[in-house]
Amino acid sequence: MANEYEIKKQICDIGKRIYDRNMVAANDGNISVKLNDHEFLCTPTGVSKGFMTPEYICKVDENGNCLQANGNFRPSSEIKMHMRVYKCRPDVGAVVHAHPTFATSFAIAGIPLTQPIMPEAVIALGCVPIAEYGTPSTMEIPDNVEKYLPYYDAVLLESHGALTWSVDLLAAYHKMESVEFYAELLYKSRQLGGPKEFDKEQIQKLYEIRRQMGLPGKHPADMCAELGGQCGGGCHSCTSTKTSEVSSTDIEKIVAEVTKKILTQMK
Ligand SMILES: [Zn+2]
Repeated sequence: MANEYEIKKQICDIGKRIYDRNMVAANDGNISVKLNDHEFLCTPTGVSKGFMTPEYICKVDENGNCLQANGNFRPSSEIKMHMRVYKCRPDVGAVVHAHPTFATSFAIAGIPLTQPIMPEAVIALGCVPIAEYGTPSTMEIPDNVEKYLPYYDAVLLESHGALTWSVDLLAAYHKMESVEFYAELLYKSRQLGGPKEFDKEQIQKLYEIRRQMGLPGKHPADMCAELGGQCGGGCHSCTSTKTSEVSSTDIEKIVAEVTKKILTQMK
């Protein structure tokens, strides 16, 4: 593993990328990296992640208590959310939280990223669910994120932003980029009349490529395998295509019923 100073520099580099790519505004967002089971580096609260230098970076223990911070810097107010990820996922080495425009718009609209529309997104992410809303800096966010941790490496945070994690910082950041790119493509293809989704067979082939690549982390493909093909709606191959068909038929039914009721009342 790189030495602590090198990791601090990498946190600053990734912070700058997140800021430069419009994934955060002002002082938003936070990053953490696991050094060992009892020491974690994290970004400070109240500073722009685009202009950090290594001495900004704080150190906390596994409960998020501050172990070391220079000057007036204090660990991120969202550190509890990061610590929950490390607690539930011993394989994770870094966590990134940001508010990228497209992914956050889906999180605000309450629409999870579940449409299988391009190979890289299916292989890298699978579905990206929305963790139920929680007030920032309280235990509500970690508590609401927890149930997704065993099965995913990325979630949207309802009405708030996105959270990604992986074996190391670059990989966790790349997950954030992938989530945002997927959300942007989904948004834009919806503007063009709606994306053409992969069918179940195409999805299975992509999941198989993922298995062969031996990618680290969790993915709905694993979830489906672990739960015997009954993941309960969290993976593309189980439900996505079907769900969108069902929901559009449901909408048609509802519209027809409402129209009928209105017409009856008008008579
Ligand atoms: Zn946030």
